[in-house]
Amino acid sequence: MRKSLVLVLLAVAIAAGGDIRSAGLQDPPPNVVIIFTDDQGYGDLGSYGHPTIRTPHLDRMAAEGQRWTSFYVADSVCTPSRAALLTGRLPVRSGMAGDTRRVLFPDSAGGLPASEITIARMLKARGYATTAIGKWHLGHLPQYLPTSHGFDSYYGVPYSNDMDATGTELPAGEPRRRIMNPRIDYWNVPLMRNGDILERPADQTTLTSRYTDEAIAFVKGNAERPFFLYLAHSMPHVPLFRSQEFEGRSARGLYGDVVEELDWHTGRLLDTLRELKLERRTLVVFTSDNGPWAVYDEQGGSAGPLRGAKAGSFEGGMRVPAIFWWPGTIQSAVVTGIGSTLDLLPTIAALAGVDLPPGRNLDGHDLGPVLRGSAPSPRQTMFFYRARALHAVRHGSFKAHFITRPDYGNEPPVEHEPPLLYNLDEDPSEKFNVAGRHPEVVAAIQQIAAEHRKSIEPVPSQLDARIPTGAAR
Ligand code: MG
Repeated sequence: MRKSLVLVLLAVAIAAGGDIRSAGLQDPPPNVVIIFTDDQGYGDLGSYGHPTIRTPHLDRMAAEGQRWTSFYVADSVCTPSRAALLTGRLPVRSGMAGDTRRVLFPDSAGGLPASEITIARMLKARGYATTAIGKWHLGHLPQYLPTSHGFDSYYGVPYSNDMDATGTELPAGEPRRRIMNPRIDYWNVPLMRNGDILERPADQTTLTSRYTDEAIAFVKGNAERPFFLYLAHSMPHVPLFRSQEFEGRSARGLYGDVVEELDWHTGRLLDTLRELKLERRTLVVFTSDNGPWAVYDEQGGSAGPLRGAKAGSFEGGMRVPAIFWWPGTIQSAVVTGIGSTLDLLPTIAALAGVDLPPGRNLDGHDLGPVLRGSAPSPRQTMFFYRARALHAVRHGSFKAHFITRPDYGNEPPVEHEPPLLYNLDEDPSEKFNVAGRHPEVVAAIQQIAAEHRKSIEPVPSQLDARIPTGAAR
């Protein structure tokens, strides 16, 4: 009797343990990898139509997953775009937009406020291991670094790779000549690990491969637990650098070499996920922080058929390549519905089963049903800000520009009344103003803009304050 009771209890215990284990295997929160390139244009991938840049690894990722054709960042330059991705909030809400300076610089005193909750901090609540690798650009002072924003570790260059100009042969006052003929010692940018400087100036020729090495080590070291990897490449932001193996590889010149190297290393990272059998438990997103930096001629990328470029509110400045990959979960497709980096935080929150950051306006939607192929995109509207001014609104197929302004320079903004109106499905290049034919659409979008403006609470800009001259940086 006693022996059989022991056997029964043993069987129950094994069954319970087995159930716990199998339940754990069936329903772990997924790993999340975000690969964020810098200034890569909408047209700069083979799968987005580039005629000579070869990107077989990203094209395979797109074929196996979803390639989005109307995916937007929330600002057309680096700092506010990155803040929006990580917080799910328009930069005008977090203070990461400014009217005198549009991004942070090495003498900036501000950064992402401690009150903002990043995807990393949100996922910590669910036991994720988190790391940021690459360009940060949300504040280089200790209180603003990734390790102060929910990331367990950080490895990378804390701001843009064209900052910290040095006084070498070409004067710092000739930024264009330096960029068109780049040399590592022209920029004294630091490579950091957590709060420490490892190398200065950073050897930019190996940044793409070293960032990927760090990413692969992180994935291998955390294969047994959920992880969040934010891999924000410094390339292909000028000055362009690539490793020796990629010199002269591309028919597209230096820019093509750089993108083909990014593609190669993305393939290494995806191969690592496959080798570790993590590919069916990992969402990988690939996108860019803003459009191509067209003022640098062939050293800037291409927006493909889109009008405009980095720093402007036409499509080329803010519509970017976006690929979602998660074999077995994502329904392979080309998605033409609207999406945004603002949607990543709520999408990831739903996948991980964590609460959204409380007590604040969020600007995103859960794209999970679109990824699984069960619903069209819930996003109907996209707001196009330049610094703290709302320049344009897309709703459905139509986009209305209330204000236009050259991407750079001191020319004042031009207000349009009625706004310029383009049908982006019929006219993705924004060539033909159809406002006169669709007054009802203009009125509807004006109403949406008016409602939206009411939701914006003014906060101080983080981008304007500077470290006093002579103070330690
Ligand atoms: Mg950028």
